[in-house]
Amino acid sequence: MDTINTIAAIATPLGTGGIGVVRISGEDALKVADRIIKSPAHPEISSMKGYTCAFGRAYDMEGAIDEVVVTVFRAPKSYTGEDVVEISCHGGVYILNRILRACCDSGARLAEAGEFTKRAFLQGKLDLTQAEAVIDLICAQGRQAAKAALTAKDGALYRKINRVCKLLVEYAGHLAAWIDYPEEDIVEINPRELERQLGKCGDELENLLASYDTGKLIREGIEVAIVGRPNVGKSTLMNLLTGYDRSIVADLAGTTRDVVSDTVSLGDVVLRLSDTAGIRFSNDPVEQAGVNLAMAQIERAQLILALFDGGDPLTKDDWKVIERCRRRQVIAVVNKSDLPQVLDMGEIQRSFEHVITISAKSLDGVQQLKEKIIQLFHLGSFDSSAAMVANERQRLGVTQALDEVRQAQHALAQGISYDAVSVCIENAVDHLLELTGKRATQEVVDQVFSRFCVGK
Ligand code: GDP
Ligand code: ZN
Repeated sequence: MDTINTIAAIATPLGTGGIGVVRISGEDALKVADRIIKSPAHPEISSMKGYTCAFGRAYDMEGAIDEVVVTVFRAPKSYTGEDVVEISCHGGVYILNRILRACCDSGARLAEAGEFTKRAFLQGKLDLTQAEAVIDLICAQGRQAAKAALTAKDGALYRKINRVCKLLVEYAGHLAAWIDYPEEDIVEINPRELERQLGKCGDELENLLASYDTGKLIREGIEVAIVGRPNVGKSTLMNLLTGYDRSIVADLAGTTRDVVSDTVSLGDVVLRLSDTAGIRFSNDPVEQAGVNLAMAQIERAQLILALFDGGDPLTKDDWKVIERCRRRQVIAVVNKSDLPQVLDMGEIQRSFEHVITISAKSLDGVQQLKEKIIQLFHLGSFDSSAAMVANERQRLGVTQALDEVRQAQHALAQGISYDAVSVCIENAVDHLLELTGKRATQEVVDQVFSRFCVGK
């Protein structure tokens, strides 16, 4: 056990920046600040009120380190619920490290990864699902993902789980009373009514699970592979979508040898695009290696954009692409609509369910392509302001709770003893309490916070 209970860490990314922040939290946070900060207007940082700032200088044994602004938060009105001091200095690695070392020489210790948020959890400022939302918020890459994380940080999932949990506890209580005192008529249990109520709880849990797949796509983005024979315009489309010149565009067939990937935000959702080597028959081993990479990319992708050149007849290599795309989620993209069209559209229509005609050069049809992707993945109906399950841990917990609720319902319907029903309901409650962290083991809590970075 560490005896020093006041923690400190650099809270901003390491690198050079305009501002960097060292955060201190714990009962001695203000005393630590007193020892290293001199502010003409506030000789004692520890007598400052919460939510106030002071300008001054940070010192260590060697002398002045930097000009700083100190912000004081008083327990319980702080991120962690403890006394917190944030020292804002210039955002250089050397200065930040020196201030952090001064804190540690003056009564604080280095914070572990996620320890600030863990303290907030232990102080009851957030539940585990809200703590997880903090990471999702930090990692969010698109508008919808950020909004969904904020919704969870505000406690939407927590409240929903809590409500179901409370109902289940109530039913379990009735059952327990009835089982313990069957002859005293204290509680009347109507098995049909209880079954109906349990059914409603189960449906709520099921609704939570339903949003998981879409939410995952929104959070993590969709893995998209752009494929096609050389020269159909893969790199041009990739550059168009990402907005700058990343892949090599050339008139010479077969120039894109490696997989080039990039992330593009398509309105609300993030696409993780990869431009692959042109697929064609080749004797050149280097080019064949590129083609193999492209094939692997196709296997991994959640969506394939299969490109064809509208200005050319179908070739043997195009057929190879068509062959590769069978039974996959594919949009056939017929490119170069600005050129006279000679491609056999009938063949394309027969081979693919979704076909879009575009010109990567004149931008024609690109908007339709984006809309098609949104429609294909049901992203348009995604409601980022609703409670939803956001990660594997949560999905597992809700699934297990749902399982127990359905078993309880089943037992009631079959006329199995109330004892069995009661056990199932109590198991469901356990799973839900573990989810919010009200009754989670140290292991579960540590697991959640191990995903954090130091300083959060
Ligand atoms: P890749 O080999 O499939 O990656 O094809 P590139 O993106 O390198 O493009 C091959 C050639 O086709 C280049 O000269 C592009 O300028 C040209 N190209 C790409 N898209 C279009 C288009 O929509 N219309 C026309 N006319 N040319 C295009
Ligand atoms: Zn290319």
